[in-house]
Amino acid sequence: MNADIFLVPPRQSIKLKDYNSAYTGEFKNKKEAKEKLKSDIKKLSKLQDILFASSTYSVLVILQAMDAAGKDGLIKHVMSGLNPQGCQVYSFKVPSEEELKHDYMWRCINKLPERGHIGIFNRSYYEEVLVVKVHPELLNRQNLPLSSPTDSEIIWKMRYEQINNFEKYLFENGTIIIKFFLHLSKDEQKNRFLKRIDIQEKNWKFSLGDIKEREFWEDYQKAYEDMLSNTSTPYAPWYILPADNKWYTRLAAAQIIISKLESLNLSYPKTTEEHLKELEKAKILLENEDGLT
Ligand code: AMP
Ligand code: MG
Repeated sequence: MNADIFLVPPRQSIKLKDYNSAYTGEFKNKKEAKEKLKSDIKKLSKLQDILFASSTYSVLVILQAMDAAGKDGLIKHVMSGLNPQGCQVYSFKVPSEEELKHDYMWRCINKLPERGHIGIFNRSYYEEVLVVKVHPELLNRQNLPLSSPTDSEIIWKMRYEQINNFEKYLFENGTIIIKFFLHLSKDEQKNRFLKRIDIQEKNWKFSLGDIKEREFWEDYQKAYEDMLSNTSTPYAPWYILPADNKWYTRLAAAQIIISKLESLNLSYPKTTEEHLKELEKAKILLENEDGLT
């Protein structure tokens, strides 16, 4: 799989209708994909171990999408082989009272992964140019300074720039940022909503608000296009993953994370001469201990 086809080239204006949400590449069905994902998860697990041991870089995976696009399932499946000690997932919901007292980046900064760790953001500060752009009245939740622009178009431009600057800073300080937009069709969202309604075990995932947001589908698609066109950069690129087939979305995501990690060329920390001597000494001590018992 050549995952580069999903990359949004920096400074390029994209239209989502040019991307096929049902694409599955050379894979014909779930069964084929399952085998591949299994071996990818093993690979990912090994790479995570080296990332953790070398403790030089952190990896931040950002997931954004419409409801029912498969963010939760992707996290559950793709990350299933990881060592939980080196992996944290945060889901960002409607901001709390306390969070609203701070700038919009604050709650996310607090959750950034430390060196050696993989951090997953299920939604993120990008909501501030998505749901807030679709519902600009949400801007009034925060007491923005008087100096802030009154023209909301300028606010989004400002935010794209702030986000790009912030991600550049993170990149330059050792955070590898991978951003996935799960591209779901409106029809497939309907199918998944109906399943959430019809299958008792899925009922908890559904609320009437989900239908209300669906009415803003076109506004969301436009907000996503603007976000993707303005915030895909060489240091923090966006990938548009076809999301009508969950099994393919997961494969593509795993593939991209693996190739990012491989490109870092990480290795386990070298054992120093001094440490080698200590190890030899320890071995002798242990062997003698065995001899005594
Ligand atoms: P879910 O991911 O389905 O649990 O829903 C989380 C909800 O929180 C979504 O409707 C998001 O749009 C909303 N949300 C997340 N971040 C923000 C934000 N910064 N401002 C407003 N709503 C948000
Ligand atoms: Mg939801």
